[in-house]
Amino acid sequence: MDDDAAGMLAALIEGKGEGRYGLSGINQREHALQAAWLAERSGCDAALIVAALLHDIGHMVHDLGDNPAAEGIDDQHEQIGYDFLRHYFDTAVTEPVRLHVAAKRYLCAVEPDYSGRLSADSVLSLSLQGGPMDERELAAFVALPYAPEAVQLRRFDEMAKVKGLATPAVMHFLPYLREYLTGGDQ
Ligand code: FE
Repeated sequence: MDDDAAGMLAALIEGKGEGRYGLSGINQREHALQAAWLAERSGCDAALIVAALLHDIGHMVHDLGDNPAAEGIDDQHEQIGYDFLRHYFDTAVTEPVRLHVAAKRYLCAVEPDYSGRLSADSVLSLSLQGGPMDERELAAFVALPYAPEAVQLRRFDEMAKVKGLATPAVMHFLPYLREYLTGGDQ
């Protein structure tokens, strides 16, 4: 990725991140930064840190409002984000992003206490996204490359909703964007 693309993505998070994150009391930028910071502190590689930072970019490049789930709309932000990010990154970044909603449906099916820990907005969107996976879906999901990374990203996603938590700024993560030079389908 060239510097311009890294700067453009950082500016997107910075500038478009004011939108509220679903029903929680934080905005998109805070959510993205908390997720990336969790990934960094957990010792994840650059690809998963970048994926965590950009996993909800689909919310920022569509115009369905801050909380489409409240209106009964599945915004398919994971697919929108994937379609956007694949111009810049390879599958180590784009697959966990594409699968982070599937990973929620997976965790709801395999971890009995997981759904109880979901935030209100995640509960709301879950039914629109298909609910917990059935046996066939589970088997198909675990066979996918990057399923474990998607599940890990999902756990960060769920934890990255803390009101008022201080994190590093977007610029802190710019080196990861720059470092991750593999390129997408551009
Ligand atoms: Fe998220």
